[in-house]
Amino acid sequence: MNVADSEVVAAVLRRCNYRHTDKPGEADLILVNTCSVREHAEQRVRARLRELGQFKQMHGSVKVGVIGCMAERLKEKLLEEEPVVDLVVGPDAYRELPALLEEVDGGGKGINTLLSTEETYADIAPVRLDKNRVTAFVSIMRGCNNHCAFCVVPSTRGRERSRDPESVTGEVKALIGQGYREVILLGQNVNSYRWNKNGDRVSFEALLEQVARIDPLLRVRFTTSHPKDLSEGLLKQMALYPNICRAIHLPVQSGSTRVLRRMKRRYTREDYMGRVEAIRKHLPDTSLSTDIIAGFSGETEEDHRQTLSLMEWAGFDFSFMFKYSQRPDTFAANRYNDDVPAETKARRLNEIISLQTRLSRKSKEKEVGQIREVLVEGTSKKSETHLFGRTSQNMVVVFQGRDYRPGDYLKVRITGCTSATLFGEHLP
Ligand code: SAH
Ligand code: SF4
Repeated sequence: MNVADSEVVAAVLRRCNYRHTDKPGEADLILVNTCSVREHAEQRVRARLRELGQFKQMHGSVKVGVIGCMAERLKEKLLEEEPVVDLVVGPDAYRELPALLEEVDGGGKGINTLLSTEETYADIAPVRLDKNRVTAFVSIMRGCNNHCAFCVVPSTRGRERSRDPESVTGEVKALIGQGYREVILLGQNVNSYRWNKNGDRVSFEALLEQVARIDPLLRVRFTTSHPKDLSEGLLKQMALYPNICRAIHLPVQSGSTRVLRRMKRRYTREDYMGRVEAIRKHLPDTSLSTDIIAGFSGETEEDHRQTLSLMEWAGFDFSFMFKYSQRPDTFAANRYNDDVPAETKARRLNEIISLQTRLSRKSKEKEVGQIREVLVEGTSKKSETHLFGRTSQNMVVVFQGRDYRPGDYLKVRITGCTSATLFGEHLP
């Protein structure tokens, strides 16, 4: 999400003659795009700002800005607490950057953290900051209307709003023209995408279909799906389009209904299992990934065991796993105690990680022997004679080959694996 936002910011700044550079020494302006989801993410930003303080002493004229969720959450406090910061801009105020920069150029500080109910940056063509020119993020909605008890996103990114479908398909067509072969449609909860204007209604299913039909050679991915909203209709529709990738990211957070209720996730363990069964039924060749939080407040050993057993049952191919981090002003911070001791959280997280490593290895081993279509992304970091790319299931494959370019589709037989990577041979 933040990569997509940085690309919008780069486009806004281009309008006032800024250009992106990879060399900090050349920069007139350094923006730190931030995440507030866990305290650790914010601590890393604070450390980066201290580094930038030293950097600024050597490069006096450089300006430093903080953008994104941490800017939204802390507002003026950031200017007070971090003297290096000249500029604080929340996720809905990026259009104001040129005006704010003028204030900073005049010797002041610039701040705008107003949230909007409408801003989707639909008309702004993002400046792509990726290196390989194969995969691009396309933001289809912003904000979130859910109230997960642990989550700071609804207060830092505002109310949910969907982007005009024509601007989405227009952006996708432009990307294809530039040689891109894969798009990832982005939103906090893409299943609740809903465009409604002058009687014109477009659901996520309809938008996905429109995008998938643009070009059968374009791979389409999307994230994130909320288990309570992932419909059977969507799965049936995915089955009709082979270019909609066979990979679903469905964050479960916990395997215990009691914890899910406390988290206000609005589904039970059994509901989640039902969704997984529906995925297996309609899209048997689909990989399934998830997000898991260890040690949410009130989580008992029994709740934790239920998370492990659900992981085992679902056989997740991949997971993002986190220790619960209590965030200020969330429902959980206001109502519950952060009562799972740090060492217990760490131990539970380790158990979750080692189970996932085993599941990931198992999922990769199942791939051995399969013939998969791989979209080439580049040359392997470890060997110039090897390429790497991804399968529709979002698994990385490394294989021998030189004479192909990023963006080529190749047939590859999977011959081996680790828990993170597949190895294969290119078939003529
Ligand atoms: N909108 C997405 C994810 C947003 S944040 C969704 O609903 O799935 C990404 C992930 O960060 C979440 O899925 C959750 O697992 C994790 N996360 C969010 N808040 C957290 C917190 N306070 N502590 C630990 N992990 C958290
Ligand atoms: Fe946060 Fe829940 Fe919204 Fe995801 S769905 S962004 S976890 S509130």
